[in-house]
Amino acid sequence: MEGKTDIDYIKEIKRMKTDKNAIILAHYYQTSDIQDIADFIGDSLALSQKAASNNADIILFAGVKFMAETAKILAPEKKVLLPDMNAGCSLADSCKPEEFKKFIEDNPGRTVITYVNTTADIKALSDISCTSSNAVEIVNSLPPEEKIIFGPDRNLGNYILNKTGRDIIVWDGSCHVHEEFSLEAILKLREENPGAKLIVHPECVLPVRMIADFIGSTSALLKFTKQDDAQCYIIATEPGIIHQMKKENPGKVFIPAPPKDSTCGCSECNFMKLITMKKIYNCLKDERPEIFVDAEIINAARKPIKRMMEISEKLGL
Ligand code: SF4
Repeated sequence: MEGKTDIDYIKEIKRMKTDKNAIILAHYYQTSDIQDIADFIGDSLALSQKAASNNADIILFAGVKFMAETAKILAPEKKVLLPDMNAGCSLADSCKPEEFKKFIEDNPGRTVITYVNTTADIKALSDISCTSSNAVEIVNSLPPEEKIIFGPDRNLGNYILNKTGRDIIVWDGSCHVHEEFSLEAILKLREENPGAKLIVHPECVLPVRMIADFIGSTSALLKFTKQDDAQCYIIATEPGIIHQMKKENPGKVFIPAPPKDSTCGCSECNFMKLITMKKIYNCLKDERPEIFVDAEIINAARKPIKRMMEISEKLGL
């Protein structure tokens, strides 16, 4: 809880955005109030595209550190701010550069595709970046004989492997949020809500994916709820997305899938939720914490992201 204050954060943030020519990019996993003050809301792919194409001098990233780093890599001339430097990512942390470099060296001759949920150092070791929105299409866009290393998410990697049938070896990383959903609790919810559709992010474990009515990236799940005619959905991804689902689908019911430990809020991403309105206000006021990425890493890390964006554009994603 933020302390009592006379400052109207929302009003002040809006004023500073205009005065400083700043924009706020917010991920779907941010809290509803933050999503509502953002200039642009999206998943990792859409936010990267927006970071690369805007006229702002300052980008304030309401998300986690790898996302802000990606913005800096794509727009090094801009000041990129992250309201809390502790907003990390368990998935990005599950892939350390020295270990990943060795993994690549131990498996030579493979194209290295990494999920955008990685540090700038890992991107610098990669050939192509991808997001959960475009991973399958990116793999399918490569010649069939091309051998691939995919990292860092083992669940997304295995999902892509099953979808494409390609020769892929997968790094053993994971996101603690998406691995926490309870199969038993989801099955129980389904029984209690006949007609509810289970929609699942590909970072979830195989048993949860196996019983899904639809699997897709955060933006694909949102799109699905708009196009599908069911009235109730069980959502197996970070529940922040439910805010946009409700806005886009008045009258439909959205139930967050429960985590294994019902006493914790661990289906929420604790890193994403470190960003608060007060921290956004302070960050925009002081113009710090600021994201800095080494120029050499920026150059190396930009190549796989650009390649992802080119392929995505070509495929109309
Ligand atoms: S939900 Fe998982 S992958 Fe996304 S930022 Fe949080 S820890 Fe990282």
